[in-house]
Amino acid sequence: MGVRTTCPYCGVGCGVIATPDNRVVADPAHPANLGRLCSKGAALAETLDDSGRLLHPVVEGARVDWDTALDRVADTFSRTIAEHGPDSVAFYVSGQCLTEDYYVANKLMKGFIGSANIDTNSRLCMSSSVAGHVRAFGADVVPGTYDDLEEADLVVLVGSNLAWCHPVLFQRLQAARATRGTKLVVLDPRRTASCEDADLHLQLAVGSDVALFAGLLDHLDQAGAIDQAWAGTHTTGLASALEAARGVDVAGITGLEPAAIAAFYALFTRSERTVTVYSQGVNQSSSGTDKVNAIVNVHLATGRIGRPGAGPFSVTGQPNAMGGREVGGLANQLAAHMRFDQPGAVERVGRFWGAPDIATSPGLKAIDLFEAVADGRVRALWIICTNPADSMPRSDLVRAALRDCPFVVVSDIWPTDTTALATVILPAAGWGERDGTVTNSERRITRQRPFRTAPGSARPDWWMLAEVGRRMGWAEAFDWDGPAAVFREHAALTAFENGGTRPLDLGGLAEVSDAAYDAMPPQQWPLPADHRASQGASQGTLQGGRLFAQGGFPTEDGRARIVPTTWRPPASTRSARFPFWLNTGRVRDQWHTMTRTGLVPRLSQHVPEPRASLHPADASALGLAAGGLVRLTTPHGVMVMRAEIDPGQQVGEVFVPMHWTDAFSSAGPIDRLVGAAVDPLSGQPELKATPLALEPAPVHWRGLLLHTDAVRPPDCTWSRIRLEHGHALDLSGAEALPADPVVYARTLMAAGDAEMMEMADPSRGVWRYAALRGGRLVACLYLTSGSQALPSPQALAALLAVPIADAARRSVLAGGGQVQASEQAVCACFSIGLQTISTAIIEQRLTSVADIGAALKAGTNCGSCIPELRDILKRQLAPA
Ligand code: SF4
Repeated sequence: MGVRTTCPYCGVGCGVIATPDNRVVADPAHPANLGRLCSKGAALAETLDDSGRLLHPVVEGARVDWDTALDRVADTFSRTIAEHGPDSVAFYVSGQCLTEDYYVANKLMKGFIGSANIDTNSRLCMSSSVAGHVRAFGADVVPGTYDDLEEADLVVLVGSNLAWCHPVLFQRLQAARATRGTKLVVLDPRRTASCEDADLHLQLAVGSDVALFAGLLDHLDQAGAIDQAWAGTHTTGLASALEAARGVDVAGITGLEPAAIAAFYALFTRSERTVTVYSQGVNQSSSGTDKVNAIVNVHLATGRIGRPGAGPFSVTGQPNAMGGREVGGLANQLAAHMRFDQPGAVERVGRFWGAPDIATSPGLKAIDLFEAVADGRVRALWIICTNPADSMPRSDLVRAALRDCPFVVVSDIWPTDTTALATVILPAAGWGERDGTVTNSERRITRQRPFRTAPGSARPDWWMLAEVGRRMGWAEAFDWDGPAAVFREHAALTAFENGGTRPLDLGGLAEVSDAAYDAMPPQQWPLPADHRASQGASQGTLQGGRLFAQGGFPTEDGRARIVPTTWRPPASTRSARFPFWLNTGRVRDQWHTMTRTGLVPRLSQHVPEPRASLHPADASALGLAAGGLVRLTTPHGVMVMRAEIDPGQQVGEVFVPMHWTDAFSSAGPIDRLVGAAVDPLSGQPELKATPLALEPAPVHWRGLLLHTDAVRPPDCTWSRIRLEHGHALDLSGAEALPADPVVYARTLMAAGDAEMMEMADPSRGVWRYAALRGGRLVACLYLTSGSQALPSPQALAALLAVPIADAARRSVLAGGGQVQASEQAVCACFSIGLQTISTAIIEQRLTSVADIGAALKAGTNCGSCIPELRDILKRQLAPA
């Protein structure tokens, strides 16, 4: 049977089953995924590795017991508040936290400490959607359900690479398209995997979405496609929005061909059943909130909301971004979808909590919060379940701020670049050990259930927070005996004096028993006290789980707001000095800063290193070849990484993935280079438009280092992937190698006094070294200053850390007898590469994704690589 729980990665919120034989498989009964998983979800069992975990509390570098650590946190926070006031302390939490963790953190900071200085990394992810929803609907509500993507005639993806970032949702969409012929339009400055099979890809200029959707609103009006009756009854602001939309130079601002714009507008106009899915390309912008409202406007004006196959649909990046929003985990929210600016809300929440000193106004949003840490206004900070030393814009400044902050507490599962800067480290229970709930992008609450014991003395975050609350003097308010009790209180607060005014109403779960909480099926809110609880998988709310088809918006007059929006360019501008845009985002098989997915060898094969993707014309103008090194410079920093030539990029734009950190690459986190301009309403930073300069960086030699340890070689450019028994590092050097590189090789290999073997052929520019201890291979290094191919790390992986017979030693230096160039992995589940697939297509005359699956198995498990298989087929079968 196994334990039903939820995938800890993206906002799709797929159900999984942890089986008694240590596998993690898709839950066929979970309504989000119905038996599907993506490559990350399918590899979850391989991440359950406790080596390297944080196991015990640590204070100032010394291991301590929980009482000592918690007393230190409580005493220091209390003393800081007494001396400098409540706003001198802060929490920075995460969309990875469970709702129960989030609830306790929010109650402690806003209710009892009396400051609203609690913000979350969801600020970087979807706070513009929150602001846009509140402005349009009166509350932060996603009106639709995933079923809508299957029931639509047209799906528009805006700033969303759904195929890689929400793969199971994309699989559901693709399956529906195959049967009902749904049209797919992608609006994205980049050509991504989501575009491979699209009917239309509009490669619009960075940040021009508001102009495109304002033009669409005007077009709908001209075409008589506004639903005057519905909009007249259920909205206000249409006339002003139309006035703002009139005469916008859509082609000039977006850079799109008028014919392409016309084709999109015509498709939208005639498709009653349209879902517009939007994600980080919309949110992570200095005009993110206006982008959200420009999208929502066209749905409100046409009444395409809350109906089957129709609605604006924000998909969240993180597994519990929605749950965090529900408890009020953003600094500008209060609690349970109540806001500081609503009359009576602060008094109501304070009364419910029994908190006379509740915060009365919003706190510091993420960018402002770390600035306050830097300038000493915040003197005690607790970071929970997130890694801002890597993931915040201008991360070098954030690191400096943390270094200088008098008191930094970090609770996490593994060591990170942030725990390295902590005064107190608290070991947290991780996925598979934690017990609570998450809410996915369609408002569906699902249990995360434990199925293994936390190692060492790791504990859940809600418990740590409650312990600190008790020790700070609020014993009664933080006295829960388990996560079910926390959830009941959260549910009761959503229903408290609600009277139908707030859609977030979980009153039906306010008295859920411990046993019923344990057994709770996935269910969508609203769940008011009088709802008929269903045991079925797709228990609904109003219109089949949808909201607002008949209006009833939670505003004073019950009407939604159609908000006039005016396009404005990104906050920074390109210049002669910084002539490119730097865009950042995700890749298919990694998650955030790779603390979990980086443990899985096969997930590192698809994209093994950070790469700067740029258009062939830019590469040619700069004299850059694919695989060459490029120096990236922005006003905030410099880094060097490999270049990737990608015709899917626009000229003048460069994409770099967000996942790599100092632990995985000499380049470190790309957020080091990203600016801190924010949307004025949401406070969300602009992570996709930083001015950038590029120049080629010299490469005098290349190398492959295999090592049993996660070493960080000095004086070269490197990136690391995990192997089954060690690590493989790709190396490049900017300086010529010494005539006899053995001393340098020892340094690179961190080999110390290990026995060294060497094979050198300087005439061909080839040097090979192996280091052995006790007859076991601890490291081997292959260097070339010429064009010789380096061995494939996978071919050598089995040699690491095992006894090497004398007779086999020479074969190690010969590259394990298998000197072959690595091929780019495509299918992570079966480790099948581009070259293998391309050859099979030609030699076996394969003509479809199904043929490839039958011949090689590629694409037959999780399906995440199917868009790439389609692309490879297209390229291989194209006429020469
Ligand atoms: Fe996890 Fe993939 Fe599902 Fe997202 S789509 S929840 S990463 S299995």
